[in-house]
Amino acid sequence: MRSPIEPYLTSIVDEIRPEDSGELADYIPELASADPDPFGIALAMLDGQVYVAGDADRVFTIQSSAKAFTYALAIRERGLDEVLSHVGVEPSGDAFNAISVDEKGRPANPMINAGAIGTFALAPGESAEEKFDAVRRFMGDCAGRELDVDEGAYSSELATAYRNRGIANMLRALGGLDAEPDVAVDGYVRQGALQVCAKDLALMGATLASGGIQPVTRKRVLDEETAGHVLSVMTTCGMYDAAGDWVSSVGVPAKSGVGGGIVGASPGRLGIATFSPRLDVHGNSVRGVAAFERLARDLSLHLMRIPETGHLALREAISADYISNDYGTAAMYRLQGVIDFVAAESVVRRMSSDRIDDRYVVVDLTEVVEAKVVALLMIAKVMDAFAQEGRHVYLIDPERLYGPEDLRRFGIADTVTQVDSFEQGEKIGRERETAEGGS
Ligand code: GLN
Repeated sequence: MRSPIEPYLTSIVDEIRPEDSGELADYIPELASADPDPFGIALAMLDGQVYVAGDADRVFTIQSSAKAFTYALAIRERGLDEVLSHVGVEPSGDAFNAISVDEKGRPANPMINAGAIGTFALAPGESAEEKFDAVRRFMGDCAGRELDVDEGAYSSELATAYRNRGIANMLRALGGLDAEPDVAVDGYVRQGALQVCAKDLALMGATLASGGIQPVTRKRVLDEETAGHVLSVMTTCGMYDAAGDWVSSVGVPAKSGVGGGIVGASPGRLGIATFSPRLDVHGNSVRGVAAFERLARDLSLHLMRIPETGHLALREAISADYISNDYGTAAMYRLQGVIDFVAAESVVRRMSSDRIDDRYVVVDLTEVVEAKVVALLMIAKVMDAFAQEGRHVYLIDPERLYGPEDLRRFGIADTVTQVDSFEQGEKIGRERETAEGGS
């Protein structure tokens, strides 16, 4: 393989591996006896390509990384408003196992245990088994394969889940928990005992990063808005009382687990996962945090590092012969890439200030990968202005980035001619000119 990506990931594993500080999670008997040494990294691109290094195939229990996905499922099934009435979205600044609950029985957020137990209670079904089954299926949909439970981890944690039982009983007493405390704790502990490897987690992260589409199966498991909401809460609360540090030093939405995993989702780019069991005082994997810091810096993934799209949007602006030069020339605007507000601004600024003599205006979207609604609207307005000046406006839009409904609501259905190719535009233009007897 010629790709430099896996060798790069391997070099990070080699560099960080000597770091052996941190402790295993000792409050869960089964985790206390885990092998502390494995270290793996996986990246999952949004088209399903996966890159791995180190122990990326080694399975471990998902633990709190599951919280982000159960939260997503609860919102999908119950709607955001109902979920918000049970669990808040405020970073608590407290430890993951804090007894966080306000006077209405609402935990601060779904990423700490209290909120996650409350969220689990909102999963579809009545019994712990039914709810757990829905959660397991959903996580399997995100990973792209069925996930199994580590029965040893499950039973050993359940047997000693005094604190989580305490939290659940408190939530129930205050009216915030939508299930019997035992049902919620049982299922919550079981969801944390689901087994994943770094590769699975990276794909699960990629599912959130893509706005809800599993990269390999292409199944849509969430709508974009829900995925975006979950990413927001991961950003502010995913790393517990280290969340502020994480946002400033890494800046990628993420969720850790005391099994040693961290799942990250760089919106619109990729999913990232690390696995290394030794934890810092916050319960986050020591090597995992170090690896994320490296990756975020090297790959320029920090959320606040915004890519510059504007200057690249206009591939070419020329005056070209059109319709075999019989009827006049065209001002051609060829766009490319992802057109967001900033990109569209640079395009419409140019289009609206160009002093052109051409009888035709052609906007070519063939090389545009994606156009945000705001960009479609802005470009539609300029095309319409050209049409009002009496120019013939052709929109080369083979992928139909402008759907029929867009053409109508932006008011250009009758003024702009949408075509598949330059040639088709010329053909239609020639027929029209001939019918009108030329100019
Ligand atoms: N199952 C663990 C617990 O409830 C999960 C905690 C974690 O991963 N931070 O304590």
